[in-house]
Amino acid sequence: MNSFLLKNTNGVSVEILNYGGIISSIKTPDCNGNFQDIVLGFDTPESYFGNHPYFGALIGRFANRIANGSFTIDGKSYSTIQNNGSNHLHGGTIGFDKVLWDAEPFENENESGVILRYLSKDMEEGYPGNLTVRVTYTLTHDNILKVAYQAATDKKTIVNLTQHSYFNLSGDFSSKILDHELQLYADEYLPLNENQIPRGTYQSVANSPFDFRTPKTIGRDIEENHEQLKIGKGYDHCWVLKNNGVLSKIAEVYHPKSGRVLEVLTTEPGVQLYTANFLDNSIPSKTGGTYSPQSGFCLETQHYPDSPNQPHFPTTILEPGEDFMSETWFKFGTKNS
Ligand code: BGC
Repeated sequence: MNSFLLKNTNGVSVEILNYGGIISSIKTPDCNGNFQDIVLGFDTPESYFGNHPYFGALIGRFANRIANGSFTIDGKSYSTIQNNGSNHLHGGTIGFDKVLWDAEPFENENESGVILRYLSKDMEEGYPGNLTVRVTYTLTHDNILKVAYQAATDKKTIVNLTQHSYFNLSGDFSSKILDHELQLYADEYLPLNENQIPRGTYQSVANSPFDFRTPKTIGRDIEENHEQLKIGKGYDHCWVLKNNGVLSKIAEVYHPKSGRVLEVLTTEPGVQLYTANFLDNSIPSKTGGTYSPQSGFCLETQHYPDSPNQPHFPTTILEPGEDFMSETWFKFGTKNS
């Protein structure tokens, strides 16, 4: 395994592993100029070979859940492993988070980065088509980490890619993210059935714990007596974005104590907010202690869960000759309260 350290002129740094395309650290300053790592994970690259909840990883071929691990393309049925109850989750047993990618670092006067390439063979993890995937991580001198995805196939298939970093802007992983203020530019989210599969309806966020249209702390409503929060054991839902495929700002997170700010921009139609509900104190944290529920949050930009089985959702089909393109930016900053 190789690791690549991207560092910009402000001292912001991002470490990337070619195993799983994992982001193993992101160091940014707080409002007093103190640099800290703001992503959960491990101290040593080798630790990522063990079992872990997708810390910092690239997820594919299909991010999130597919009901019963089965889908149909042009009348032909495919079945993939059920690795999450009856669901297929995050690409299967050896998803893109557990493979070695070819890596090519680059640098120019504005930015540095690494291009990761992987060929997922026809029927790998049950998905049809030889899929060539390219993910480019770029760190700019204005503190933006760009993640650009590209894919092509030789057979009609499905694709849904994301980045699974868990952020904790405090830099102290023994503190929960409940005090982080989140703004999500979304009017609707996708309610789940008891198996965490979208019911297929679009639900307005109005008058519910899912309303982040004006900033509020992640913790404010997370314990509310709401059926959907019970199903997710907290937030573990996909919000519906209004960007029409154009790279647009969809979220801002502010941590008042450190002054750190994270902005997220994407071309994707959805974002899964996951508040690390299933972390169970079994994994030692980089900053001492163990990773507990709510010790991080993920903003996983993606197409909607179970799209292959829900034809009214934006399509995740990729045809031969088409170019799959998707882009997400994470912008790091500070502000004083
Ligand atoms: C999902 C969670 C899942 C987690 C696994 C998230 O993307 O939304 O339900 O438990 O990944 O780490």
